[in-house]
Amino acid sequence: MSKMNPYEMFLKQVDEAVPYLNVEQEFIDVLKEPKEVLEVTIPLRLEDGTVKVVKGWRSHHNNALGPYKGGVRYHPNVSKDEVMALSAWMSIKCATAMLPYGGGKGGVRIAPRELSKAELERLSRGYALAIARFMGTDIDIPAPDVYTNPQVMSWFLDTYEKVKGWNEPSCYTGKPLELGGSLGRGDATARGGMYVLREALKEVGLYGKPLTAIIQGYGNAGSNAHGLYSEIGLTVVAASDSKGGTYNPKGLNYEELMKHKKVSGTVADFPGGERLTNEEVLEIRADVLIPAALEGVINEANAAKVNAKVVLELANGPTTPEADAILEEAGTLVVPDVLANSGGVTVSCFEWIQGRTGDFWTEKTVHEKLDERLTHAFHEIWKIKKQQGIRMRQAAYVRAMGRIIAAMRFRGIWP
Ligand code: GLU
Repeated sequence: MSKMNPYEMFLKQVDEAVPYLNVEQEFIDVLKEPKEVLEVTIPLRLEDGTVKVVKGWRSHHNNALGPYKGGVRYHPNVSKDEVMALSAWMSIKCATAMLPYGGGKGGVRIAPRELSKAELERLSRGYALAIARFMGTDIDIPAPDVYTNPQVMSWFLDTYEKVKGWNEPSCYTGKPLELGGSLGRGDATARGGMYVLREALKEVGLYGKPLTAIIQGYGNAGSNAHGLYSEIGLTVVAASDSKGGTYNPKGLNYEELMKHKKVSGTVADFPGGERLTNEEVLEIRADVLIPAALEGVINEANAAKVNAKVVLELANGPTTPEADAILEEAGTLVVPDVLANSGGVTVSCFEWIQGRTGDFWTEKTVHEKLDERLTHAFHEIWKIKKQQGIRMRQAAYVRAMGRIIAAMRFRGIWP
């Protein structure tokens, strides 16, 4: 792991972009702190009658460009620093994708797989109730993240609307279609990453060739990437999750691996592959490495062993600043999280628009708009990268911070 916690990672990433930005230091100082962080305690009644005290947070990083936006994560290791970092990365991400949002994020410290469905519902309603006064369609719009999904969004939404006494579908995104969700939201993170990767591969001269890929993390983003990326010529040869990895140099069959994961709860021990440890999976020689789970998996201890030409960050914060430097030295192109995984929040924005207007789009429209937006963002960042001779992450931060700070400058420092 990195010596830095996730928030320190964010601060370092900001510092690495500042020399290429011509802005007043006071705005950088403001961006280095979240505007407000709500800490909540949720007493959760368990099936056996006892009460478990659960901690949660919702961080509002910056709202110069629009209401705070970002997911809610359920994970046993969630911390306040992590939620703050994730909210700051959302500010950068929304500005990168040119969305009318600032950055927010929520987290609840719990292992959701250990809860019954009724316990999960009580916990979700408890959290939604606790943050209700901190959010709303024009204030802060939460969405799914690690281990939360459309069912959890439904409980959040229902609780919020019952507290308020009115219907307000766009106060949450990532909802089921039946509650005003958008077509194309389910695989949006992976799909957005595919459009971005396609453009990156064209730039480095790899597009159109048969390519191999490794997927680290087999949740929503990782598994959908496996299903989709054959469209751009990728064969997934290795995949891993928290319990281990699987490898087959000829390619892992998507449908069979999904079936295996559903039955056994993990991709490890897949009969169609050889079992590997998580570390071994990261070291396999492949064209594209796709971290799709948690922060800090590519770090100073293992970055030199990465054997891929391109790293596509579908996770938030998977590469530490130390690892960024090592990968750059090795000539590996890192396509940063704030661009690579921005498809999720972009389709969340489409859902928010559709919910506000009542005008629902076809899946084709969603895909086309997503492609157009992310292809445009990619090329703007690529241009800055080339002009300034910097990493893609630095270029994305230059563009995003420039946008946020331009809005802050118009607003002025007040009160
Ligand atoms: N949790 C996703 C992310 O990290 C999506 C956030 C959203 O849709 O608001 O980008």
